[in-house]
Amino acid sequence: MTDIIQIPATLLPRDGRFGSGPSKVRDAQLQALMASQPGVLGTSHRQAPVKDLVGDVRAQLAQLFAIPEGFEVILGNGGSTMFWDAASFSLVRDRAQHCAFGEFGAKFAKATDAAPHLGASSIRTAAPGSVVLPEPEDGMDVYAWPHNETSTGAIAPVRRPAGIGDAITVVDATSAAGGTRVDIAQTDVYYFAPQKSFASDGGLWFAVLSPAGIARIEEIAASGRWMPESLSLKVALDNSRANQTLNTPAVATLVLMRAQLAWMLEGGGMDFVAQRSALSSGHLYDWATRTSWATPFVSDAAYRSPVVATIDLDDAVDSGELRRHLRANGVVDIDPYRKLGRNQIRVGVYPAVDPEDVEALIACIDHVAGRLLA
Ligand SMILES: *Cc1c(COP(=O)(O)O)cnc(C)c1O
Repeated sequence: MTDIIQIPATLLPRDGRFGSGPSKVRDAQLQALMASQPGVLGTSHRQAPVKDLVGDVRAQLAQLFAIPEGFEVILGNGGSTMFWDAASFSLVRDRAQHCAFGEFGAKFAKATDAAPHLGASSIRTAAPGSVVLPEPEDGMDVYAWPHNETSTGAIAPVRRPAGIGDAITVVDATSAAGGTRVDIAQTDVYYFAPQKSFASDGGLWFAVLSPAGIARIEEIAASGRWMPESLSLKVALDNSRANQTLNTPAVATLVLMRAQLAWMLEGGGMDFVAQRSALSSGHLYDWATRTSWATPFVSDAAYRSPVVATIDLDDAVDSGELRRHLRANGVVDIDPYRKLGRNQIRVGVYPAVDPEDVEALIACIDHVAGRLLA
C-alpha cells in the first residue's frame, strides 16, 4: 500500500517480534531442533530419546527455579487453560479464592466457580491496570492469583498469605515464569506454558509442585472424586515422574524449550533472564514517562510488569494506525489485549527479546508517531 510510512532501515530492530504470546523464538532454537535430528522428531515418545528430552526440561526448570528439596516439576498436554480445568478437579477440595485483575485471573476464577463439584469461589477483583492480593478467608482451601496478568501488564507479588492453614497457593505464572524472579517456596503450584518466556510453542503446561501441592493431588485422587483422566493431575504426576505424558506431547515444542532453557542457564539463570527483561521493559516505561503522548498503563510503578509492558497512547496517536504501519515494516504484535479496548500498545519483552531491539522499537514508534502527529 502506498500510504505506508516507510521506517528507515537504520531504525529497524534486528528482529521485529514483540508478541506477548506466542512470542519470539530465537534462530538458535531452530538450529537446535535440526541438530536433534534424526534422533528425536518422528520417534516414539515412549523411548529413551524423548523421555530423556522430557527429563532434561524438568531438570532445567528445577535448576532455573532453584527448587527446594521435595518440590517436583510436572507437565501435561493442553496449555495453561487446560490446567485451570485440571486444577478444578485435582487441586480444589471445595472452595478457591481467586484474585482477578484481568482476563486470565478471571478465567480461572470462572472455571472453579462454575464447577458443579465445588463450592462457590470467592473472587477478589481490581480494575485492570492494578492488582489485588489474596487475603485469608474461612473455608478456602486454594488461593489462586496470576503472578503476571498478561492482559494488562500488571505483576503481583508472590507471597503466601499468613494464616491460611493447610490451604495451598496456586499461581498462574504463564507469562512470568522464566522472565522474572520468584521465591518458589511461597507457592505450592506454580504453573506455566512454553510460549511466553520460554520462547517455544503452545499446547503444553508445566507446574512446579511443593510437597503440600503433591499431597493435595494425592489426597483428592484417593478421595474417589470422578474426573476425566486427561484432567487428572495424579495421572500427570505419575507420568511426569517417568518423564512421560498421558498422551503424545508436542515433541518439537519440548526441543525448542530445552534449547531456550539451556541458553537461559548458560547466561546465568534467573539473574540473567530477570535483568534482561527488566532492562527491556525499563526502556519502554522510561520512554513512556518522558513522552508527552504516551503513559504507562499501570500507574503504580511497583506493579508494572517486567515482561509485558502496556503503554497508553493519547487519542492523537491511534494505536491501530501505528500498529498498521509498524507491521508493514516487519515490526509486529504490539497489540493491546483485545477485550481491554484501550488506545494502547502491549509489548512482550520476554528474555528472548534483545533489549537493543526494544530501543529500536521505540525509535520506530517515535518515527511513525511523529508522522501521524505532523
Ligand atoms: C497466555 C496465558 C494463559 C493462557 O495460556 P494457554 O497456554 O494459551 O492456555 C493463561 N494465563 C496467563 C497469565 C497467560 O499469560
